[in-house]
Amino acid sequence: MTDTSSNNLSSWARNVAPSPTLAVDAKAKALKAAGEDVCGFGAGEPDFDTPEFIKAACVEALNAGKTKYAPAPGIPELRAALAEKYRTENKIVGLEPSQVIVSPGGKFSCYLAILATISPGDEVIIPAPYWVSYPEMVKLAGGVPKIVFAGQESGFKINPDQLRAAITPRTRMLILNSPSNPTGAIYEENELAALVEVALEAGLFIMSDEIYEYLLYDGVQHVSPASFSKEAAEATITVAGFSKTFSMTGWRLGTLVANPQVATAVASLQSQTSSNATTFAQYGALAAMENWESSKTAIAGMLEVFDRRRLRLLEGLRAIDGIECARAQGAFYLFPKMESLGMSAEKFATKLLETEKVAIVPGEGFGAPGYMRLSYATSDEVIEKGLERLTRFCANCRKI
Ligand SMILES: *Cc1c(COP(=O)(O)O)cnc(C)c1O
Repeated sequence: MTDTSSNNLSSWARNVAPSPTLAVDAKAKALKAAGEDVCGFGAGEPDFDTPEFIKAACVEALNAGKTKYAPAPGIPELRAALAEKYRTENKIVGLEPSQVIVSPGGKFSCYLAILATISPGDEVIIPAPYWVSYPEMVKLAGGVPKIVFAGQESGFKINPDQLRAAITPRTRMLILNSPSNPTGAIYEENELAALVEVALEAGLFIMSDEIYEYLLYDGVQHVSPASFSKEAAEATITVAGFSKTFSMTGWRLGTLVANPQVATAVASLQSQTSSNATTFAQYGALAAMENWESSKTAIAGMLEVFDRRRLRLLEGLRAIDGIECARAQGAFYLFPKMESLGMSAEKFATKLLETEKVAIVPGEGFGAPGYMRLSYATSDEVIEKGLERLTRFCANCRKI
């Protein structure tokens, strides 16, 4: 008889943790479905619809019969358009379309980048607070996550000394994510350059997750590590996708840019696992690239709304006793510290959802106990109501 206990699962399956952000979202959605008035700050996705012209291009492709397999690394027109974007917008010199891979989601791009470069026992340096999936992906490749923490006091950014101290002979990769999920923090050009220099000296790969590159506030600029030098471009695997910039999370379209050797390996891995990203979806993405002015207008429209909500949520959180919140300048998250409220973030999140029907994501899953993530990719109404409930809950916290 088949052993149906978890002992019978692979070591990979036994060691992987489910995504805590998706779990909170599922719980909040279940409460909502049961008729509860839930204020959801858990979402990791924009609440806008995909821009009309992108949807139209996809529908057109579907009607034109673009319903078959595509080349594993992506349709050639999209790879060429992305290469052009990365050369002009991200300043990656000499990039060829053959170095660009289109995958079924930025998440899968990250996974492929790790699978293509990490062997069992290799160490990967992951700055914390980190995106929940990085350590799990490293473990799925047999690698060893090495967490380097930088809290609110350091602007949620690691420095070159911390990086240097974490490097061992087994270190193979540094993961960077600016703007960051969950903190919204952004590395400035000189800070990034200093980290890249240390990584290059040690011969590391850099996986730079730039999925939030266009979600910037307060006039800050995004810089790609691969733009620093030829050497940096060769060592860096730049991953991103259409989900966050164009509100296309359900389309499952990610991108990856790497040196020719890594790009070829990634294409092979993809051809043996997912084959290609959905064919007609790629034509929607192509429209986004080819109509860059329309894209910029669409992004600016979303940013204006995000920015207003960001400032309102920031102001509301800062007014609550026991909560300390940094002014995040990217993505659509705030990551306040709630340590002084006297309970773990996990307990706080559970009680908050139970008593006030407010969903937040506790910091533990991001490697940052004592913090919580609030997404402002939600309506003004939810933000106002949520802040009211959060204020009441925190005032009662010490009595629980
Ligand atoms: C959302 C997200 C991704 C990937 O999203 P996809 O929907 O898979 O494209 C990757 N990295 C970070 C940090 C994210 O927040």
